[in-house]
Amino acid sequence: MEIQVLGAHNCESQSTRFVNLVIDDTLAIDAGALTSSLSFEAQQKLKAILLTHQHYDHVRDIPAIAMNLFLRGKTINIYSTQPVYDALSSHLLDGKLYPRFLEQPQPEPTIKFTVIEPHKHEQIAGYSILAVSVSHHAPAVGYQVTSADGKIVFYTGDTGPGLTSCWQYVSPQLLIIEVTASNKYEEFAQESGHLTPSLLKQELIGFQELKGYLPQVVLVHMNPQLESDIAGEIEVVAQALGCSITLAYEGMRLYL
Ligand SMILES: [Zn+2]
Ligand SMILES: [Zn+2]
Repeated sequence: MEIQVLGAHNCESQSTRFVNLVIDDTLAIDAGALTSSLSFEAQQKLKAILLTHQHYDHVRDIPAIAMNLFLRGKTINIYSTQPVYDALSSHLLDGKLYPRFLEQPQPEPTIKFTVIEPHKHEQIAGYSILAVSVSHHAPAVGYQVTSADGKIVFYTGDTGPGLTSCWQYVSPQLLIIEVTASNKYEEFAQESGHLTPSLLKQELIGFQELKGYLPQVVLVHMNPQLESDIAGEIEVVAQALGCSITLAYEGMRLYL
């Protein structure tokens, strides 16, 4: 399994992109950097897109990739929960901001959207997919992706503390998890449903207690302004727990 990090941050600039992963060139998770990072050819190779939640930084490129595919007579499968479908159809793809690609063109709309439910296994694009509810400001899920050869990654999407309830469902070799802010913004993180290094430490301790091991950990969704503070603080956490925690970056490739 090859996981390409298209975007690793919560703010976009020339050198940072919104969070976006692509597995084996075929399965995208979130859509903050699909069209800004992938060639037209690479966009057409995607078999499916999984969306964690409706926040703009995670769905931003859905209208753009839909337009690209529409103009080439192609379609794309998108999977997420009902609230994400509702937000896309009533906002970004409502016919005012952009065409209604969820319903048009008939008879085969550009976006084939499938509503999935948390905690039900699905077979999507050759992978076993499990959506797991996480705690965030909007309804949100993380995704465990298991390849045919048994490689397992769990990506949380945006989440605040309280992951103990979701650890029971997942057993990843690689955990891609958000850390948005540094420790001094813990109150902000708690209120808005995000993590800091010290909040992540508690979640990882909970994981180890429940599962008896710690996976390799890679961080995404960092606020670029706080990234050097996060890096320093996470090193302390990694040493205390005796595990590997690294910060993702745009263009990073991870192999399982
Ligand atoms: Zn969010
Ligand atoms: Zn976000």
